[in-house]
Amino acid sequence: MIPAQFEYVAPTSVADALAALAQAGDDAKVLAGGQSLLPILRMRLNAPDKVIDLGRVEELRGIREDGDSIVIGAMTTYADVLASDLVREHAGVLHAAVKEVADPQIRHRGTVGGALVHADPAGDVGAPVLALDAELVVAGQGGERTVAAGDFFRDLFETAVGEGELLTAIRVPKHTGWGSRYEKFVRVAHQWSIVAVAATVRVDGGSIAEARIGLTNMGSTPLRATAVEQALVGTAATEDAVRDACAAAADGTNPPSDLNGDADYRRHLATVLTRRAVLAAAGA
Ligand SMILES: Cc1cc2nc3c(=O)[nH]c(=O)nc-3n(C[C@H](O)[C@H](O)[C@H](O)COP(=O)(O)OP(=O)(O)OC[C@H]3O[C@@H](n4cnc5c(N)ncnc54)[C@H](O)[C@@H]3O)c2cc1C
Repeated sequence: MIPAQFEYVAPTSVADALAALAQAGDDAKVLAGGQSLLPILRMRLNAPDKVIDLGRVEELRGIREDGDSIVIGAMTTYADVLASDLVREHAGVLHAAVKEVADPQIRHRGTVGGALVHADPAGDVGAPVLALDAELVVAGQGGERTVAAGDFFRDLFETAVGEGELLTAIRVPKHTGWGSRYEKFVRVAHQWSIVAVAATVRVDGGSIAEARIGLTNMGSTPLRATAVEQALVGTAATEDAVRDACAAAADGTNPPSDLNGDADYRRHLATVLTRRAVLAAAGA
């Protein structure tokens, strides 16, 4: 299908993009990599009057170090994240998850910011961003605000980014020296996650000193497995001890039932994948 007609603008700065958004009101859509938005427009599930393409806004691209954090511009592609030594060294679980997104073509166009604002609960970047306690920088014409990842995802396809606002960057506290693993369960290659688990742990003297676990597709938003995180602290990095601590992985979740599996099957998967992810992250 062909999209409905729209006006196309391609600003070159955040200020100009915000001005274009303000002018258009709720009749505008922001275009990032287009990997989710273009199919939506083609199927006419949305028909904005104006499309504001962020592709020429250079200040939204790139990854830099800023003290104890790394800052990832919203328009940074998955491919750029994968190529980044900063991400690999300080946010290993994000690197591991991005490796599992779709296929190389989509990873070369799709952006981390676009994926986070799209907020598909089966998307692969929400859980690691949550697990890493990242902060999301949101800009509007009134200025910038910072939203903790735990407050960013509001519901299915709904985030804290309001009308007239842009996500500009993701600020990730460095988790240097932490082990990481993203366990994604799919039936066929390049599929969306049926369930996935992002685990990053710090091991000290054979025991788990700290653990962060994010769950993909176990509810309408990415979720933290906080009961498991707490149970893992002080646990020996061994198969039996980790299995016991991960038994609560599905607590507080509300997974969907669909053709790929019902909710109970997903709860079982979450427990198994969490154990595998934690053991791999701990190097056990
Ligand atoms: C065949 C296929 C398979 C896929 N498989 C996977 C997969 O396995 N795992 C996975 O995680 N994803 C998958 N995706 C989705 C892919 O990751 C998308 O790239 C991503 O969801 C959206 O990123 P984008 O940059 O393309 O954003 P776009 O499609 O351009 O935008 C998505 C939404 O975010 C809004 N938006 C974008 N950027 C901003 C911003 N800076 N500020 C405010 N609003 C913004 C747009 O207005 C739009 O509503 C798949 C997509 C396709 C087509």
